[in-house]
Amino acid sequence: MSVSPEQQLRAYVEYFRDQGVYELYQRERPQVGVPERWRELLARPKRTPVAAGVAARTAPVSAPVGITQARPGAVRPATQNSGSAVPPGQRPVPQARVEPEPPPSYFETLPQELQAPMPKPVPFDALAPLPAEIVPADQRVTALDAVRAEIGDCTRCPLAYAGRHTIVFADGDPNATLMFVGEGPGADEDAQGLPFVGKAGQLLNNMISAMGLKREEVYIANIVKCRPPGNRTPEFVEASTCSQFLVKQIDIVRPKVIVALGATAATYLLGVRQSLSSLRGRWHSARGAKVAVTYHPAFLLRDPRQKGEAWKDLQMVMAELGLKAPAKKTT
Ligand code: URA
Repeated sequence: MSVSPEQQLRAYVEYFRDQGVYELYQRERPQVGVPERWRELLARPKRTPVAAGVAARTAPVSAPVGITQARPGAVRPATQNSGSAVPPGQRPVPQARVEPEPPPSYFETLPQELQAPMPKPVPFDALAPLPAEIVPADQRVTALDAVRAEIGDCTRCPLAYAGRHTIVFADGDPNATLMFVGEGPGADEDAQGLPFVGKAGQLLNNMISAMGLKREEVYIANIVKCRPPGNRTPEFVEASTCSQFLVKQIDIVRPKVIVALGATAATYLLGVRQSLSSLRGRWHSARGAKVAVTYHPAFLLRDPRQKGEAWKDLQMVMAELGLKAPAKKTT
């Protein structure tokens, strides 16, 4: 039986997972040699199994308080040539155009028999003891700089070889009482080196303003600091390897409240694999902070009908922090 390169790679990764080795890469010191050909496989654009069949979503736009945003995934009629000689009755019916869903992970594209269930994530509370001392406010910038220096030009996980340009550390106030945690950088973030600066970032900015805050007053970070190719969900080994640094960032900033944006952030912060709907609307905890779970802004761009639900989550956070929505401007 011939074995494809994908099957070889899968078997290779599975073998080391079975041995309890999850850090297949370490900075400048790979624990195991990965053949160049397999690095290329990891970096290769992913096959989308049913890419051609992505259904058009035609959700109506309903914008709750302060969260209004153009939708990149919005259905747009195809442009028509007004000067066309084709009689109106015979013109092609305008086709809906939608942004496709992010492609699946490389492993998700493998045949079922080669897919392994994701191991149970370890909650952030169990990854390291809570620090005995709080970092004084005036030393937090230096402490965060030290974490960034420790990360260096990281090659601890496969994302280092999957086309990332920049390690996206974080943005915002090192003394913030409110922290947002997303999934991982997208193309804009990878190019600019800052989290949430693309379309989803614009919506996150609107959400922050609707809460009566400025972006500079909160702290924003992600579960993984390198862009997963094609914006796929980070693999378990990638998220688990990177989590140690987010733990340190949270311990330095000491936010009162963390908002987990989407399922990936909730899964790894809390160490649970549950539906977002079962986690929303109540408080959780991580690293001494209260954790609220809400929809990822990228999801809200795809399904704006859920913005009202996200606003309920943010109102729960605002009540906890004593924040008031800014008065609506009257013209
Ligand atoms: N999506 C995320 O989860 N994080 C970013 O920084 C950008 C988009």
